[in-house]
Amino acid sequence: MDPCIKDERGRTPYMLAHDKEVRNTFRRFMASNLEKWDWHTAKVPSALTKEMEESQAAKQAEKDAKKKARAKELKKLRKAKEKKAQAEAAKNASKTVENQVNASTSYQKGQSQPNSGLKLSKEEALRRAQAEEREKRAAAAERRLAALKIQGGGATTIPGTSEAKSAVPGTSEAKSGAAGDIYCSCCNTSLAGKVPFHRYNYKYCSTSCMHVHREILEDG
Ligand SMILES: [Zn+2]
Repeated sequence: MDPCIKDERGRTPYMLAHDKEVRNTFRRFMASNLEKWDWHTAKVPSALTKEMEESQAAKQAEKDAKKKARAKELKKLRKAKEKKAQAEAAKNASKTVENQVNASTSYQKGQSQPNSGLKLSKEEALRRAQAEEREKRAAAAERRLAALKIQGGGATTIPGTSEAKSAVPGTSEAKSGAAGDIYCSCCNTSLAGKVPFHRYNYKYCSTSCMHVHREILEDG
């Protein structure tokens, strides 16, 4: 065959070959037969050597590999994301169940043994200690008051004193429903017909009594 042959319109075989692989065949043929034909006349633009093809193939392979790797990486990321979302959803679901279980068990515990909870018993102990402390202070204050009254002498009558002793804050509140039964928490004077001074649950005949009593309570 002659690559320089032309048809009636002056076209060479290479010009008539539109398929790339056919054109490459011409170029390969040119590479191995450079001197045999006039390739310029044949309109074959350049030779295609084995080395050129190999290097092109290598480049293409590299490109393909990179593309494949990128696609793989993207797929991996997407899968990891999905997995994470699923795990999160499962975790949340199990947490809800756990909370429900915990709530129900602690509720049962609380019902059967009220003091079994460590936190509960701690709070209870603190509360009891505080109540004890308050009682101690109240008792001390009452003792001081009694001592004061004995020192103060005849100003107050014996029955009044005994009544005041029983009138511990709290109980006095209930007892003093009738206005006539109120006594000064400090000097024990009857507050009947007076407008008493209030501090906490205590009532006083005067501000000076209120201050004295406060000092007694604070010292106690
Ligand atoms: Zn008083």
